[in-house]
Amino acid sequence: MISITKKIEFEAAHRISNYPGSCSEIHGHTYKLEVTVSGEINRETFMVMDFKDLKEILQKTVIANFDHALILKNNRENRAVFSSYLGKITWMESEPTAEQMLLWMVSSIPPHLPSGVSLQKLKLHETSGSFATWKNITG
Ligand SMILES: [Zn+2]
Repeated sequence: MISITKKIEFEAAHRISNYPGSCSEIHGHTYKLEVTVSGEINRETFMVMDFKDLKEILQKTVIANFDHALILKNNRENRAVFSSYLGKITWMESEPTAEQMLLWMVSSIPPHLPSGVSLQKLKLHETSGSFATWKNITG
């Protein structure tokens, strides 16, 4: 079993609406995401999967939903304030913490992976010193 990792970046704004501090204000991050998948090396391509294909999957899942978006919890307060905003809003069922964004990705990325390739690890950096990690514990 071999793992490969793709790193991407995206810009997004969010607010943590129940946070007792400045993170309850709308603010932005340059998110850095590391996506690790694993599988056997394909006998024809000599790859686990093409980095280009993994990038395209991340484009239509993560980038399409989060890049240059305002990410908000779908609650009454946020809907009242932002429902007339015509820009890109990504509504989440939970507060848009790095942890919850990872769980969104865990359910969104795997259906697009080729058979025999599985999501192993995600690391999402909000800042240079703060990141959340998800690991596949089922193997
Ligand atoms: Zn933040």
